[in-house]
Amino acid sequence: MTTEHISNNDTLFARAQKTTPGGVNSPVRAFRSVGGTPRFITRAEGPYFWDADGKRYIDYIGSWGPAIVGHAHPEVIAAVQAAAANGLSFGAPTLGEIEMAEEICKLVPSIEQVRLVSSGTEATMSALRLARGATGRDKIVKFEGCYHGHADSLLVKAGSGLLTFGNPTSAGVPEDFVKHTLVLDYNNVAQLEDAFASMGETIACVIVEPVAGNMNLIKATPEFLRALRDLCTEHGAVLIFDEVMCGFRVALGGAQELYDIAPDLTALGKVIGGGLPVAAFGGRAELMGNMAPLGAVYQAGTLSGNPVAVAAGMATLKLIQAPGFYEKLSAQTAKLAAGLEQAAREAGVTFCADSVGGMFGIYFSAEVPGSYAEMMAGDKTRFNAFFHAMLDEGVYFAPAAFEAGFVSAAHDDAVIEETIAAARRVFARLDK
Ligand code: PMP
Repeated sequence: MTTEHISNNDTLFARAQKTTPGGVNSPVRAFRSVGGTPRFITRAEGPYFWDADGKRYIDYIGSWGPAIVGHAHPEVIAAVQAAAANGLSFGAPTLGEIEMAEEICKLVPSIEQVRLVSSGTEATMSALRLARGATGRDKIVKFEGCYHGHADSLLVKAGSGLLTFGNPTSAGVPEDFVKHTLVLDYNNVAQLEDAFASMGETIACVIVEPVAGNMNLIKATPEFLRALRDLCTEHGAVLIFDEVMCGFRVALGGAQELYDIAPDLTALGKVIGGGLPVAAFGGRAELMGNMAPLGAVYQAGTLSGNPVAVAAGMATLKLIQAPGFYEKLSAQTAKLAAGLEQAAREAGVTFCADSVGGMFGIYFSAEVPGSYAEMMAGDKTRFNAFFHAMLDEGVYFAPAAFEAGFVSAAHDDAVIEETIAAARRVFARLDK
């Protein structure tokens, strides 16, 4: 007689679903796309986290980006503890906020002034309002498969969790709210030129993930970002780089440093909070001067610039400025991508991988995709089988084929090699 093992994760998932929709507080955590039971995490350290059964995983989501120095880094934890001991929130300004703003302006030269908020959603939503307020125009341009948080007017043909549910536009967003949102194809310069030629004078802004990470990893071509910059300048539209994911992730100065293109506004998040809720939007001082209390564009937050969150963010921003940090991070991530490709090749599995800085994509297709359509053509059944087999091996990749992966400074050679060895075993037993 066999008794089936009931995991603590199963018990917790059943319990969570009674009081929380789908058992999770952010949809992609629910494993809906890959099936099975989400792992409930009890603790994390360096490149690892542990689930409710005590099983250890090599973590390649890093809290979906923030954990760039590895989980529970002693310097980040010490900064948080020290800040917490002085009180959790004041609703009045602090020195820490000035220091964080100065640090962001120093590291991202296109940002002369910055406002701190608590989530990437708030950052992009506010940047959009600022662009509309400053230009007096209504229309915005976004690209299919790019996710910019869940503000109504941006929740159109968006990526990430929305793709998991096969409907990239959310219910509950009135047509009237999105009639000003124009959705174009990523990396399609000709289409962009046509759009500006026909309605350039009505476009308030273009918002783009300059390295897209919400339809798996898809890099913008330099020509695409250059065309965006030139067309926005020519037509008086605001160019917003949503670097919530790629900022401080693909390079110290973000994608704008990598491509050498300065946007008018930048949205940041994830890494700048080091695992606590800090996000930001910023740009030229003259544009930011439209924000209340100076200007007519309103935006506010009870916990904006929260002292404990800012302490975690500042400690993280200091650590990533260590000499060679990004060279090492990029090299480790590239090593992972190359190792996975090699393992797949040995097993005869159609697969490829790509990386930039500490971000990577894995694709069950012959070529690295360059657009949403190409990415959607990949083999999702094969991905799901791979995901679960790797999970069994103790390697936690993003639980959906539409998400990028993240490597931290704690993913040393031994961790990368352990991952590739597991992948070799998994590829060998995947259906061909
Ligand atoms: N923009 C991008 C590019 C993102 O990746 C995300 C989150 N994955 C957001 C905005 C929204 O950030 P948050 O989840 O903190 O609201």
